[in-house]
Order: sequence, then C-alpha cells, then structure tokens
Amino acid sequence: MRLLTLFSSNEHLIWRSFAALCVATLTAFTYAASTIDTLHYDVQLEPDMSAQRVSGRVVIRFQFTAQDTATWNANVVELDAGELEIISVTEGKRSLSFSKRDKRLSIVMPDAPDKREHTIRIVFNGKPKFGLRFLPNAEQVFTEFSTSEWMPCIDEPSDRASVSITLDLPRRYKVVANGDLQSRTHLPNGKTRYVWRQITPIPSYLLGFAAGVFREVVDDSAKPTLRYLTSTAFDEDDIRKIFTETRSMMAFFEKKAGIPYPEKQYTQVLVSDWAAQEIGGFAVMGESYGRRVFNDERAVWLGAHEVAHQWWGNAITNVSWNEFWLNEGIGSFMTAAYLEDRFGRETYERTLNAARTKYNAIREAGKDKSLIFDNWLNPTSQDRSLVYDKGFIATHELRETLGNEVFWKAFRDYTKKYWNQSVTTRDFQQAMEASSGRSLAAFFDEWVYLRK
Ligand SMILES: [Zn+2]
Repeated sequence: MRLLTLFSSNEHLIWRSFAALCVATLTAFTYAASTIDTLHYDVQLEPDMSAQRVSGRVVIRFQFTAQDTATWNANVVELDAGELEIISVTEGKRSLSFSKRDKRLSIVMPDAPDKREHTIRIVFNGKPKFGLRFLPNAEQVFTEFSTSEWMPCIDEPSDRASVSITLDLPRRYKVVANGDLQSRTHLPNGKTRYVWRQITPIPSYLLGFAAGVFREVVDDSAKPTLRYLTSTAFDEDDIRKIFTETRSMMAFFEKKAGIPYPEKQYTQVLVSDWAAQEIGGFAVMGESYGRRVFNDERAVWLGAHEVAHQWWGNAITNVSWNEFWLNEGIGSFMTAAYLEDRFGRETYERTLNAARTKYNAIREAGKDKSLIFDNWLNPTSQDRSLVYDKGFIATHELRETLGNEVFWKAFRDYTKKYWNQSVTTRDFQQAMEASSGRSLAAFFDEWVYLRK
C-alpha cells in the first residue's frame, strides 16, 4: 500500500514542479493558443551532456486561427520559449523581427494574417533548468513535460501537431522519441543522427525523447513492438521480468477502449533518477520502479498508469489543466481497473481505499473542491490529490451508479468519440449520458462540480 502511495505521489511530485515553475508560461498560453494553430514541429537538437545545454532549431508549420485574422495586431505570433536564447527567426529567406519577454517569444510576421500555411524557422540554444534533464553520471538525458523549456512551441494541451525529432547523439547512446525511427546516420564528427517522426498530431507536452547509455531489450513477438531501455544495472533477464506485464496492460486497455494501441512501438525507459512521465509512444520512469516490480510483481501501479495514459491523457487530453482530472482521475481509475482484472478485486479495493483515505482527510479538513479548477496555476498538494484520488473515486462511483455493463459500453463510446481530441468534463458527461440513456446531472453535481 505504501508503494502505491509512493508511485502516485511521484507523478504528483513532478506535476508540482511543473505547475510551480510554469506559472509565467501558463499565463502566456492563453494568448499564444488563440493566435495560431500549429500543424507540425520539425525540431533538430544537439544535447551537450557535459555542459547540460541544448542547441538546435525548430521549423514550425502553422495557420492563423480564423478569429485572429480580424485582429489589428494578429500578425504577431506568440510562442512559449522558456528561458531559451533565440538566435534567429526566418520565414523562407526573410528574417523576421522578434522579441522575447519573460518566457514569451513574439514574432512579427511581415504580412497581415491570412489562411495560408506558414513555415517559420527558429534557431535557439539554452541551458534549461527543467523540462530537459541531464544525468551526467549515468550519461542519460530526457525531456519532462515542459516542452517550451527546450523548444519554442505552443505549450497548450488543446493544440496538437505532428512532430519530427532529429537528435545528434554520441554513438554509444540508445534513444527513443515520438513515433517511429526514420533514419540513423553516422556523422563525420563521430556522433549519430537519429530522425524520429510522429504522424498523429499530439499536444506539445507529450513531445520528447530519452537518450543515453542504456541496455536495450526488444520484444517484437506481437504488435505493438515493446522496447525497454534501462541503465546497465539491470541485465536482460531482469528487464524481461520487470516488464513482463506490459502486454497484459496493453491488452486490457485496448479492450476497454475498443481501440488498439495506435503506434507501432511502445517503449518503457528506466532512468537513473526519479521520473514518472507519459510521453507520446513511450514512458519514462525511475529505476526504483524496476527494483520494486522485480521484488513484487504486483507493484506495477506506475507502469500500468503510464500505459493507460496512451489512451486517456495522450489520445484523449484535457482541453485545459483546469480539468486535469480527465487525464489523471480517469487514468488512475483505469490503472486500478487493470489491477482488478489482473490481480483480483482485493488489489482494486486496496487501491481504492488508499485514495479514499487521502480524499476523506481533505474533505474533513474542509478542503474539498470541484474537480474543475478555476485556475490550475499554483495547485496545493491537496489539489493534486483531488485530481488523482477524488477523480479516481468519482469514476469508480460512476461505474457503481451505471453498473459494469452500461459503464464500460458508455466509456468505450466516449473513448471512440473523442479519440485524438481534447475534451472538457461536459464532453465526458454528455457522452456517458448519451450512451447510457440516463441523466447524470445529479451525479456530476455531487462528485465533479461539488454543487449542493
Ligand atoms: Zn498520470
């Protein structure tokens, strides 16, 4: 039980740092997202392990959103760019003027907004304080949620784009990034250039890569190909044992979604520090996860949770962080549902009771809130617990209210309807109501909106 709490807190911990550090960036998101719709990011990066710096360029293809074409200053494109130093911005052969204030990059487009697709190229470098983590002793580097800290982008969960990631890395490194490996080329400077490409558009916080001195095990005995990257502390037999349940996780979520895992490959990475992160097509977790599962085959909460996010969180994403429970509450419920299916009802009950204990303490302290936050800019640890634990309990109670058969059919209908889209709580409620044929207004008032 303690382990469950630990794993659950691990994601809380990361989101705490994300939320705390991204206050300024998130403020900028509101404007940035309303200006353009990004279509594709083509990013090339060269991480420098010893200096813990990154240099690169990103080519962004976008369109102005229709509403902005009438706005007088709408030819200014706003991007989130963390603390990166911007070297140049060009469109074709034209240099564009730009300015950077706080974490916002403002680019003046030469002409008034139109309906055409535009392609701009931004050259940058920087030493990110977060969002890109270097572990020099282990020779590992990986991205962590705050994409705009290592690549100018729109850091908004409602904005989706396809991505191509090119990485120049030392030859002995193994690497995973979004989508599929397109090419691997040895460069004259002794490095290797990897090109990965993700065709299905995803929100920018799910863009990323992990690279380093890893041991690699590949299981291509079925679809999707499963790939495991860990530090060399684990041998091949250890790795196969740690990830022995990945296929059963995939099969369970595919069945409940009614949609197969959408990519050709899924990779699980264990880095030599704490981490708990879903990314498009892979997950990054800490080595401690591997050790726990090695000793207890049921301690797979975190691994299953990150696999579940490939459906609920990644493919179906909260439209705003204010409705983060749609990612994490539903993700936590699906994790418990997997544990129930794989290890029995008792494991489910223990997970549920752990969430109830935390939620009841919050409620008794008078800190219960609606699962839709006014402003998810500076959440407390109790707010994060509400999103994960109350969100899990609410989804559990919805299953209790509808009964297994009706609930799972409605949940599958919701998943299919909003596949590869960003959703609101109202979308979820309406989909569950339409499929079950029942009004859930009273249920959502009680469990989600906290209306009396
Ligand atoms: Zn999660």
